[in-house]
Amino acid sequence: MRSATNQNHATAGLRLLAAITAATLALIHTAAAASDDDGWQRFRDTYQELVETNTTLSAGDCTLAAQRMAARLRAAGYPEADLRVFVPEGHPKEGGLLAVLHGTDPGAKAILMLAHIDVVEAKREDWTRDPFTLIEEDGYFYGRGTSDMKAQAAIWVDNMVRFREQGIRPRRSIKLALTCGEETNAALNGAGWLASHERAAIDAEFALTEGVGGDLDEHGKRIALEILAAEKVSQHYTFEVTNAGGHSSRPVPDNAIYHLVRAVDRVSRYEFPVQLDDANRGYFLGMSKIYGGADGAAMAAIVANPADGAALALLDRNPDWHAMLRTTCVATMLSAGHAPNALPQRARANINCRIFPGVSVEEIRAQLVKIADDPAVTVSIPEVRGPAAQPAPLTPQILGPVEKVAHELWPGVPVVPALEPGASDAQFMNPAGIPTYGLDGIFVDPDYGHIHGLNERVRVRSVMEGRTFLYRLVQLYANQ
Ligand SMILES: [Zn+2]
Repeated sequence: MRSATNQNHATAGLRLLAAITAATLALIHTAAAASDDDGWQRFRDTYQELVETNTTLSAGDCTLAAQRMAARLRAAGYPEADLRVFVPEGHPKEGGLLAVLHGTDPGAKAILMLAHIDVVEAKREDWTRDPFTLIEEDGYFYGRGTSDMKAQAAIWVDNMVRFREQGIRPRRSIKLALTCGEETNAALNGAGWLASHERAAIDAEFALTEGVGGDLDEHGKRIALEILAAEKVSQHYTFEVTNAGGHSSRPVPDNAIYHLVRAVDRVSRYEFPVQLDDANRGYFLGMSKIYGGADGAAMAAIVANPADGAALALLDRNPDWHAMLRTTCVATMLSAGHAPNALPQRARANINCRIFPGVSVEEIRAQLVKIADDPAVTVSIPEVRGPAAQPAPLTPQILGPVEKVAHELWPGVPVVPALEPGASDAQFMNPAGIPTYGLDGIFVDPDYGHIHGLNERVRVRSVMEGRTFLYRLVQLYANQ
């Protein structure tokens, strides 16, 4: 949204400047691609093919995307025995891909590169550019899934291709799993399906998937590389009011819409209490030194005393920090009424909560009943997504290689743990006994590249660097 507005209002001078910048960036990209190897163009083709294969639940086809990625592995020399497109029964378009590069040590457990290939819905009429065309503009890739998470999925496929072509024989086997259904709670979750139906095929010492990447400031300068230490649980709740309704010419106070909107308004004004665990404590302590100033002082203060109101007021202005400190609940959908000239018989709201690690789904439901503070409003749980997972511990075995490669690529940029306000497929993998870490080495702008929103984008430079980061990192892990 921001970039579209800027463009619409750009003066001719600014346009010229933008064109020069784009040309310069293009030159830098070409130079980087040429020096750092390495099949950038082929990677870009893979990425483009993934982005341009619509994988939304409504109109897309993950199975087709999986078949296309399988064809690339086949072309790189993988035998049929080592790759498989799987399609859960009754879900013909929600398939995925499994592949393996065999290691030299049969006694060593594999590592798993996991990515979801489905994307959030995107309407062409709402976007500035076609969401299902990969567009490179002013140093950014635009398109649905460019950031979440087809860049990383394409990097995994590209890794498999490069390892094979270069004859790399790691000690551990390297497995790939591309899955569908991560973005839609009601859909079949491919990672969950694999954990219950194909546990042996994905067996691994640990898995890597999406989570957190690097942070850029508003000028594109690197602040820190984050590694996911814990993540929240996403849970929907339904607020509902029903009554007899009636003719709209004779209103009564007992109106389903009024009951509902008052309850929703109370949710908007409620703040869950601050909670600290190792993940957000580590994040704020690490970041307090990097940020310095008032923000840095507030970060240190909140770790020392979670009840520090002045520090909290400062941190809460940043939606990311606000979300990292507590459970959040927000109204995301409303539906009410059945006719324009009738009193509503039913009003319903979807409240999406992001629950702090360790807090139960039922505990939050009970709290929402109190917040709604109206016996006419029922609060129910439409469906529970998956088991609540314990986060995988960040051991030196995991952190060491991250710090090594980060230092090679971005000397001086610190690595800090993070509590991810979103949720990933780690919630299905951790309970299945496969510790799963979220990291991608892709640095994002403060706006997070509009993931799930309009005009999703990611910096070209960030994808290039993330590709190099994950190429080196996976090899280090595979040889441990
Ligand atoms: Zn995602």
